[in-house]
Amino acid sequence: MTAPSSRGPLNEIQRYQQGKSALPGHEAPLKLSSNESAYGSSDAAREAYVATRDLLHRYPDGSQTALREAIAEVHGLPAEQIVCGNGSEELIGLVVRCYVNAGDEVLLTRNHFVMCPIYARAQGAEVLLAEERDDVVDVDALLRAVTPRTRVVIVANPNNPTGTYAPRADIARLVDALPEDVVLILDGAYAEYVTEEDFDDGATYAVERANVVVTHTFSKIYGLAGLRVGWAVAPPAIIDTINRLRTPFNVSAAALAAATAAMRDQAFVAEARRRNREALDVLLPGIRALGFAVTNSVANFYLIDLSTVAGANTADAVMHLEANGVIPRPAGPDGRLRITVGTPNENQRVLELLAAYRAGLS
Ligand SMILES: *Cc1c(COP(=O)(O)O)cnc(C)c1O
Repeated sequence: MTAPSSRGPLNEIQRYQQGKSALPGHEAPLKLSSNESAYGSSDAAREAYVATRDLLHRYPDGSQTALREAIAEVHGLPAEQIVCGNGSEELIGLVVRCYVNAGDEVLLTRNHFVMCPIYARAQGAEVLLAEERDDVVDVDALLRAVTPRTRVVIVANPNNPTGTYAPRADIARLVDALPEDVVLILDGAYAEYVTEEDFDDGATYAVERANVVVTHTFSKIYGLAGLRVGWAVAPPAIIDTINRLRTPFNVSAAALAAATAAMRDQAFVAEARRRNREALDVLLPGIRALGFAVTNSVANFYLIDLSTVAGANTADAVMHLEANGVIPRPAGPDGRLRITVGTPNENQRVLELLAAYRAGLS
């Protein structure tokens, strides 16, 4: 018997591993492995979600009009240049499927969102990684790595798992120097957290240029990861191409309703941003005071390098945290420790456990 053979490139792909959520022996572990929001979701979003329950027999609005208009108003963007997806990862995947052929190249940064190489390889494309400078996206390294075969460049800004960002001037340089037939995806999954003045998500380029796509998600600061909603702003021709390939009902009615209400509740977003910034201002110095290195994160997670303390390493620190009911995530090409920002009490717990781990080394 011969089994059906799947397309060749798929055999080379390693499956995405979801952040751990359960710990044997811990009934309610503290899950800090998936960058979910510590502050839940807006009341307005939850009410809108519940209100959809009597219309579950109806298909959702495939044109996503109400949600696109809410996004357009809040962000000052043209609604016709917005498309929503089943999470922003669906939109990134759609762009790759729309623009990348077998034999093409997709250019990423050394630290990148792990679904990106999967989408690229599924097309039979080659994945190239540009080096970073001190854990920050290096625009010059990216531009040097562009070849005539490059079709798509993907930069998460802020990046994951580093949490660092490339300032507005760097993104401007990248947009200006990139060949116009190369699609640039700026993944803004954590953009809403950034309070720095020199940060910009690049949406203006998506409106004005022919080759820039900016994605955002409701999974992080909006606290709606379980609903699966993301959105992209892109040039009209790219929106049109995505709309040919996406399933018309990729965002459910409940997700559309909740996300629309969430987008209109910017007070909730501002409060989450403020609390996250406050938490980082405690966490990052606290970790450095223990002797560990940590990235200059502006997102809702941080990446710890344990090797700055003799005898410390990621695997042992994970064991120590998990033995005490806290789930972090080893992440990135060099296996550092990524931890999601929690509530003040949760963050204090993490700092105490890291201090105890460090004390146990000597
Ligand atoms: C979490 C995350 C996303 C968001 O994915 P969704 O599909 O919208 O939940 C996108 N990019 C990066 C880098 C992320 O970390």
